Amino acid sequence: MRDHKITKLLIPAVLLAAASLFFGGCATVPRSASLPAYSIGGVSYLSLVPLCESRDVDWNYDAFAKTVTLFKGGHTVSLLVDETLVLVDGREQHLKYPLRLHQGALAVPLRFKEQVFDVYFRPPQAPLPVGSGMRQASLVIKTIVVDAGHGGKDPGAIGRSGTREKDVTLDIVKRLSAVLKSQGYRVVLTRSSDVSVSLARRVSIANDAQADLFISIHANANRVRSLSGFEVYYVSPNANDYQRALSSSTEIPASLARYCAGAPSSNLKAILWDMILTNNRAESIALGKDICNTTGGAVSARIIGVKGANFYVLKGTRMPAVLVETGFLSNASEEKMLKNGYYRQQIAQAVASGIQNYARNCAPIEAHRR
Ligand SMILES: [Zn+2]
Repeated sequence: MRDHKITKLLIPAVLLAAASLFFGGCATVPRSASLPAYSIGGVSYLSLVPLCESRDVDWNYDAFAKTVTLFKGGHTVSLLVDETLVLVDGREQHLKYPLRLHQGALAVPLRFKEQVFDVYFRPPQAPLPVGSGMRQASLVIKTIVVDAGHGGKDPGAIGRSGTREKDVTLDIVKRLSAVLKSQGYRVVLTRSSDVSVSLARRVSIANDAQADLFISIHANANRVRSLSGFEVYYVSPNANDYQRALSSSTEIPASLARYCAGAPSSNLKAILWDMILTNNRAESIALGKDICNTTGGAVSARIIGVKGANFYVLKGTRMPAVLVETGFLSNASEEKMLKNGYYRQQIAQAVASGIQNYARNCAPIEAHRR
């Protein structure tokens, strides 16, 4: 599946034939049973492929984009030849020394093994220390951006008895923010009063805050007034990620921009973005499920579930992002519930519990989810 995805990115005509030579252990990247170490410019390096084989880690080398991607246990680690950048589950880290192609073999600095490889691809015989079901240090959820839908001159949906979505969302967001803060998270709001905030601004607030999660709160409306329920959206896999990646130049993180500077930058950029987006989508779905589960246990509303859609506010974010539709204002009984402060508190607490469960359980559950 992953071969497929990378191939798809490279397909533009002439590259197809060339690309087919490059995936999965091609001749220029010899395999070996031992773990050869050598010095390149005075720095200790290890041969990457034998290292992967010693831990049963799957790998792909794309000679066109000069990227190598390692997969195991739900973790994805990507490196670029001659660069110090490492994407670990879509998040960037930097090595002191770059990945090298040495005598036709991929070589990683010894520090890569300690800093990344041993952390994400543990040897099977080493039991996990107690409590290590938590996410790795680099993936701990610290900052959460909570977004109250609509506001100011945009009221959002309006219920039959006049309840405005922008008021419901702001109230739930304030309650959610208070619960999350009490749980120790850093919370950033896209708005804390009845003001208009553009979708682009909401996205940049989340990206600038380097948020670990983005939660957008809304209330639904439908012409079919009998429709009711609670649902969570993530960015749909039907969105054309390649086009998205190509058009995302203004959104590229500054630290990644230089990797996208020269030709064939568009492909490389697309690959980098695809890595980030694919991981964030899986995480967003997992988060959405956790939120639905806790909400289902807390309120009587029908839980519709987790769905994909193309909401702009989710598309530009560089972190797992979900949009929570807390209920239908177009449905008389749900409007009545959403008008009630106690109900809104229950929703806020349930969403916070879902986030908490996600933050706690992401790593160990990941394997079952995929
Ligand atoms: Zn809305």
